[in-house]
Amino acid sequence: MTTQPLDRTLDYRAPEGGCVTGAFVQVPLGPRQVVGVVWGRGRGDFDLSKIRPVTRVLNVAPMRDEMREFLARSAAYTLTPMPAMLRLATRAPGLTDPPSMRSVYRRGDADPPRMTEARTRVLDVLEAHGGAAFTLKELCDEAGASSSVVKGLVQSGAVREEAAPRDVPFPRLDADRPGKALTEDQQAAADRISEGVEAERYGTTLLRGVTGSGKTEVYLEAVARCLRKGRQALVLLPEIALTAEFLSRVEQRFGARPAEWHHGVTMTERRRIWKMVGQGGAELVVGARSALFLPYRDLGLIVVDEEHDSSYKQEDGVLYNARDMAVLRASLCGAQVVLASATPSLESWANAEAGKYARVDLASRFGELVLPQMRSIDMRSERLESGRWISPTLKKQVEDRLANGEQALLFINRRGYAPVTLCRACGEQIGCDHCDAAMVEHRFQKRLVCHQCGETKPMPDACPSCEAEGKLAPIGPGVERLTEEAQALFPDARIATLSSDLFGSARALKERIEMIAAGAADLIIGTQLVAKGHNFPLLTLVGVIDADLGLQGSDLRAAERTFQLMRQVSGRAGRAERPGTALLQTYQPDHPVIRAILTGKEESFWQAEAETRRVIGMPPYGRLAGLILNSTDPAEAMRIGTELARHDGAVRAVGGQVFGPAPAPIARIRGRHRVRLLVKAPKGAALQDAIAKWLAPLTLPKDFRLSVDIDPQSFF
Ligand code: ADP
Ligand code: ZN
Repeated sequence: MTTQPLDRTLDYRAPEGGCVTGAFVQVPLGPRQVVGVVWGRGRGDFDLSKIRPVTRVLNVAPMRDEMREFLARSAAYTLTPMPAMLRLATRAPGLTDPPSMRSVYRRGDADPPRMTEARTRVLDVLEAHGGAAFTLKELCDEAGASSSVVKGLVQSGAVREEAAPRDVPFPRLDADRPGKALTEDQQAAADRISEGVEAERYGTTLLRGVTGSGKTEVYLEAVARCLRKGRQALVLLPEIALTAEFLSRVEQRFGARPAEWHHGVTMTERRRIWKMVGQGGAELVVGARSALFLPYRDLGLIVVDEEHDSSYKQEDGVLYNARDMAVLRASLCGAQVVLASATPSLESWANAEAGKYARVDLASRFGELVLPQMRSIDMRSERLESGRWISPTLKKQVEDRLANGEQALLFINRRGYAPVTLCRACGEQIGCDHCDAAMVEHRFQKRLVCHQCGETKPMPDACPSCEAEGKLAPIGPGVERLTEEAQALFPDARIATLSSDLFGSARALKERIEMIAAGAADLIIGTQLVAKGHNFPLLTLVGVIDADLGLQGSDLRAAERTFQLMRQVSGRAGRAERPGTALLQTYQPDHPVIRAILTGKEESFWQAEAETRRVIGMPPYGRLAGLILNSTDPAEAMRIGTELARHDGAVRAVGGQVFGPAPAPIARIRGRHRVRLLVKAPKGAALQDAIAKWLAPLTLPKDFRLSVDIDPQSFF
């Protein structure tokens, strides 16, 4: 038999009685014990007496053939060595540990000698749930009581404490509970998706509809049908902060909470989910992209919400795009994929155009909701002092909302106080010591931060280069600086700043968002964090500080990204009864992308964008791969890159071209130099095979790393 801990399979002696293909096993590897998966029969061409035995077979569901196929295909697609791929699929800590126990609490026989309000609440909760057991945390949360109250009740015998296994199934979801009555449009969309769910066959549907059109209601209906078939469903969300709102919607719809999978979830809970998914004890998983690699027993539906979001692309380690791998996984297990978005990626749009994906459009917002009015503010004719970014026109609009008791949002897609800190004496920009990147001032933390490597240092008083004192000046706006300006302009407003770095935990962020949604702030100042799906019912005005920001630079997707982001963030306005307005500050109101954003003629925007890409043979009408050579020795990296480019026969054989080598746009990160090559090939080309062949003869010197990014999303 053969297991798979290195980049080739290894042979081990099967345990007494044998073991099945796909079994998870613990095996010796050198001096260590590691987890492996039985990949098949051994080759048998070696001395059987030398072979080491499997230590033991783990008590978890074996990896299914379909999962092994999925891993093999993903590895081949992303040119990832199999062990790295396998690690994604075994990312549950403590798989080899014995089942662990924890304390749970039930109603006991005795009555407490003395009742308090808190004690009554605890007992009420336990009685209301008819004998069910709670963990301490669940019980305290549900009853709004402290743990000492529960412990007191345990002492008096009114509550029983007992040990229970940790890895227990998730509560069953009731798919038969009635959902919201769907509109005709929504029902038609749900029916189309559900057809494939019912037939248990593969298919991908692009579900397009503006924010608030009911995409979530529609795919929850498809989830219901999937659960009724007895199959599992997975909903991928791009942002952990979004899960809380979604989990409560699931609970309302199905009467219980699903499994929640992301890096903010505790280790023991992750292990429970991993095991339960494999045994069928979890019907619905809601989570981040890595939830795609859980060992589902029978997956019938995958929803990728906000499918255009660039965070579905994993940018370090295994470079995969969860949206694309979702389609692969579904095709292997006869599942449906729903790609939901108000502003689909050009890739998905093109796949729908080509008939590879079905497309369902929800035409309007649900109920009385109307789309926000969109207008530009021509910054060329606004009077602004230097160091100010809120135009008089925008200021007036914000004041009107505040006077009306409505919320306004100012959007700037930049964390920190100012993107650049400049010495007015010598002209030096403060840069990171380890990266070719500016240090960004974060004034709330009184520090400079490198957004590439995370290095921070205190804000200096004197210029690190010429030592002049008091000459360092912030250049350009960030979300913190905008907050400062807003505080001066709107002294009576309660201002909330939302930026991912300002919150220590996903929970803190989630709580803040809930408070804001409930009306605890008048003015929200936020980065792209606020563009993603949060529901702020009182919000009626969105002001975009710099609509031109994303259009600078030469990124292939600059137009697409700007279009998506602007439409998304504008969509935050006017979700409830009150109509919304979105105002875009721009210096180029006649730029075609800005015009498309304002007119909302999405279809013609995509047509035009598609045509541009088609002409130059760029994705999705051509293929790209990015190579980064990474080392401490830039000259040697360039030399190796040049050698590679010179011997590009394998790439040319499939009609491809190699560009570069050149220093990457950020030529140094964490003290390591980066040299980039780009491979471009026609759409149908067998790009991965060609690259594998091309790179096969390459042996890298020690300390060199090469990463290959198939279908790159970013080019830094
Ligand atoms: P999207 O996912 O497209 O942004 P949602 O599904 O979140 O849209 O719907 C927006 C709001 O409208 C939600 O509060 C949702 O509950 C409500 N809604 C949508 N469709 C219906 C319906 N048919 N009946 C009642 N409420 C609905
Ligand atoms: Zn750095």
